[in-house]
Parts: sequence; structure tokens; C-alpha cells
Amino acid sequence: SIMPATLSAISNGARHGILFKGGVHLENLGNLKAIAFDKTGTLTKGKPEVTDVVFREDLPADVLISHVASIEKFSNHPLASAIVNYANSKGNELTKPENMEDIAGYGVQATINGVEWKVGKADFVGRKEAEEFQNGVALSLAEQGKTVVFARDEQGIAGVLALKDTVREETIKAIQALKREGIHTIMLTGDSNKTATAIAAESGIDTYIAECLPETKVDEMKKLKEKFGTVAMVGDGINDAPALATASVGIAMGEGTDVALETADVVLMKNDLPRIAEAVKLSKKMNRIIK
Ligand code: ADP
Ligand code: MG
Repeated sequence: SIMPATLSAISNGARHGILFKGGVHLENLGNLKAIAFDKTGTLTKGKPEVTDVVFREDLPADVLISHVASIEKFSNHPLASAIVNYANSKGNELTKPENMEDIAGYGVQATINGVEWKVGKADFVGRKEAEEFQNGVALSLAEQGKTVVFARDEQGIAGVLALKDTVREETIKAIQALKREGIHTIMLTGDSNKTATAIAAESGIDTYIAECLPETKVDEMKKLKEKFGTVAMVGDGINDAPALATASVGIAMGEGTDVALETADVVLMKNDLPRIAEAVKLSKKMNRIIK
């Protein structure tokens, strides 16, 4: 049965923008030892914008952007919509590709005018060539915290688009407050190592694991559980749902995908990250009253 102290804390939480799908989740937060965050859409706003376009000599930027956007039009990934918006804002005409395939955690592929294209991360298009493209331009873009999207046609790397997402204003404060409660903070991201380093530093997060596939996020949650005991995961995407389900406490961003909201134990109604540390403090106080 639910304790009166828990009940009043839950309703108090709901008034303050944090929703608990049961008293036990609030109680668990008081024992939290580690917390993992997804990067895109959780620590960052999840609204990346195209900042750089690097193209191969034989393929003008306009053609590159038009091809890449035509393919991305069929993906739901936040990077994809950012690229399509960019192409539209430049007035680039899109064509209709064939054989589109959206490969979660990697990118998209399609055929345009009989030519096979791949758009996505380095491992998807061929890491060595991707890293060597135009004297390693991708690495220097990633060092600026930008996400790098590679395009490949049948002749090799055709170009690179860099996108910058913004760390949420409340992220730094939220991470600091959790650290003050003695909680270890981790970022789990599908993005590259260099980009992850930059965003982790900007957020003030303790450690990170880059190039995560959705199943890697689950494995990492299991490891964290073994090492720390009570652990939480905060995420917004479909690809975060398995990790949210694995965590002792799964926390979804209120503006996240339906799957994340349904899977989570706790919802941050206004994406308000500092609420987590507040709930931890409240839970510690409450657990003392109950005991
Ligand atoms: P994240 O944790 O960054 O949201 P995802 O698992 O969704 O990661 O994707 C991992 C990486 O795969 C992205 O950082 C990106 O480089 C690449 N990627 C995935 N989908 C796409 C896409 N539609 N277009 C371009 N790149 C993509
Ligand atoms: Mg995300």
C-alpha cells in the first residue's frame, strides 16, 4: 500500500511538472546511484541545424544537398528533417528516389537516377574513406560538437554535411544538481566519439559512451545496474525505449516520442531536466519519514 507521504509527494510532483506512474518510482529515485542520458533531444534540444556543407569537386553543393535531402525525406530521424528543411530553405529541388531504406542507428540508402546512395554515419559509408575525405574535415567538424553526416555515391564519399544541435539551457544546472546528490552521470549516444566528447564537456557530464546502437544502450544499462545498483535512464526517442525499460527508473522527456512516454516510469512533462534532482532530494526526505 502506498504511504501518505508518497501520495502527497506524487501529487506535489505532478503540480511541478514531473509525473510518476507509481509511488515506487519516486521512492527508487532516493536510492539513485547513477543516471544515464541520451544526447539528442535529451541533453540537447534535438533540433539540429545544418552548419557546413563540404562537397566533392565534381559534384556541386546544390546537387549534393538536393540528393541528400531527397533521400532523407523518407527518414523520421531529427537529422533527416533538419537536412530537408535546409534544402527547402535554399530552394533546392528534391527528386523522388527509389528503393529507400531507413537503417536505424546508421542512416538511409536509396537509388537516384540509377545510382546507389548512402547517407549516414562513418561506419555506414565506410569509416576509413569517411575519415580521410578532404584531409579529415569530418574530424575537425566533430571536434566542434557537430554531428557529421556522410553521403556516398558509387564513386566514393560525395560530401559531408555537419549539423549543430544546442545543449538545453537547463542541462548544465540539472547535471550539477545530480552530481551534488552523489549521483554518477553518463551520456549514451549513437553519435561519433569526437562529437560526444564535445557535448559531454559542454554538459558537464562525468562520462560518455559514443556510437551506441539501441541494443548497446540496453547492455550499458545492465552493466550500470550491476556496478551501481539503482540506476536511471533519461531519453526521448524510439531507440531509447529498450534502455528506459531496462533501467531501475526510466525517465522520458515529455515532448519525446509516444513509445518513450509509454515505456517510462516517470515523465518530465515540460522536458524540465532539473526536476530530476529535485525529485531525488524529495524522495530522500520522504524515505526518511517512512523509515
Ligand atoms: P542518437 O543517439 O544520436 O539519436 P541514432 O541511434 O538515432 O543516434 O543514430 C546514430 C547515428 O547514425 C547518428 O548520429 C547519425 O550519424 C546516423 N544516422 C542515423 N539515422 C540517420 C539519418 N536518417 N540520416 C543521417 N544520419 C543518420
Ligand atoms: Mg534522442
